[in-house]
Amino acid sequence: MRDPGSDVLVVGAGVAGGACAAMLAQAGLRVALIEERPIGVATDPTPEWVTPATLECLRTAEVDLSSVLGPPLSGVTFHSADLTQQIESLQADPPAYCVDYGALAAEVARQAAGLGAHVLTGCRATSVELSEDAVTVVTNKEGPLRGRFLVWATGAEASTNSNGAKAGCVVTVQRPLTAVSGDRSMHWVLGLPGERTLGCWWFDGSGLMMRLQGRGDKVGVCRELDELTERAASVRMIPCDVMGVRGKGVVRTVAAPLALEFDSHVGKNTLTIGEAGGFIASSSGDGIYPGVWSARLAVDTLLCAVGSRHTQDELQGFDTLWRSTMGEYLRPPDTDTPFLLPIIFSNRRMADRMAGALWRGENV
Ligand SMILES: Cc1cc2nc3c(=O)[nH]c(=O)nc-3n(C[C@H](O)[C@H](O)[C@H](O)COP(=O)(O)OP(=O)(O)OC[C@H]3O[C@@H](n4cnc5c(N)ncnc54)[C@H](O)[C@@H]3O)c2cc1C
Repeated sequence: MRDPGSDVLVVGAGVAGGACAAMLAQAGLRVALIEERPIGVATDPTPEWVTPATLECLRTAEVDLSSVLGPPLSGVTFHSADLTQQIESLQADPPAYCVDYGALAAEVARQAAGLGAHVLTGCRATSVELSEDAVTVVTNKEGPLRGRFLVWATGAEASTNSNGAKAGCVVTVQRPLTAVSGDRSMHWVLGLPGERTLGCWWFDGSGLMMRLQGRGDKVGVCRELDELTERAASVRMIPCDVMGVRGKGVVRTVAAPLALEFDSHVGKNTLTIGEAGGFIASSSGDGIYPGVWSARLAVDTLLCAVGSRHTQDELQGFDTLWRSTMGEYLRPPDTDTPFLLPIIFSNRRMADRMAGALWRGENV
């Protein structure tokens, strides 16, 4: 067999691909991480949250994200859709930290490079050739790159191309604030109209984030966010001057949480991870933790495959591995949320369990 250049080619340096490259490099494999965009160059700020489970998973690969973490959140306040009912679920440990996604992904890629991964930026994978014992990724910049295995981590775009009908969108409005808010809760709004529609707002170090995710059309989701913003401002839950953000939401497509519906995440010498594989928590839309988790399991699978004479058989094990470990986390709650709503607002234990479902994918 000709020298394949790398043991593994990872396409996509989001958090899933970056984590995968870091873990593979830390295990001593030769890895190339291929990313079409320049890493670390700020595009729009992308305020998100990251959970302790993600940080722990990355720490096992010596990736430390403490330098990019924003303020910790203290818990959750649930609101009814009309904002007349609310209940707080305080958590002993921070359930999540505010983070800028661009900074987080850049830091993971930087540390992957520090662990020995070859990071190629501004390099788009334009086509892939798969043979029995190697993969070749054709790029617009570096020419063809050869590897023994391929990990596909190209994010929502890849997933929504094949499952467009079920994709949804997230609309975010950011409002810088002059005074820092002491409110450290994540505010989740339950029971909004529309399929899998969830509203939230929180204050990070610099301002207010209002967000709505849903499966409806973009116009409808934007309108719903505008209405929620006005309702929250009119009852002074958020500053009144956010009324001016009407119609200014930034819309991003989000893949449907479809991992469980994929026939397989394994191709010839290839694994698919992260949002490209539909690895999204159904309850919260959390994609960072499942992205990193799927990367961890892909690495475990690849480490078995490199030392095996039956590589494809070893790769097939990825499907069983992630389904048996992540399946429960990814599955939608088996209880109807509208049915639960009155109980959540009248029973703190139920509110705590709902918080566990949203932050950690636990069953309600
Ligand atoms: C508005 C919004 C808010 C969200 N908020 C949260 C949140 O607060 N918490 C949370 O946990 N999750 C959140 N999510 C989900 C989460 O951000 C994603 O699921 C997660 O970032 C996906 O990571 P990934 O690495 O799979 O994909 P991405 O981060 O999308 O990375 C894919 C990478 O692949 C690159 N790429 C694509 N095609 C090619 C190619 N052909 N060649 C080379 N490179 C290529 C892209 O440039 C990109 O850098 C949010 C999603 C949205 C849309």
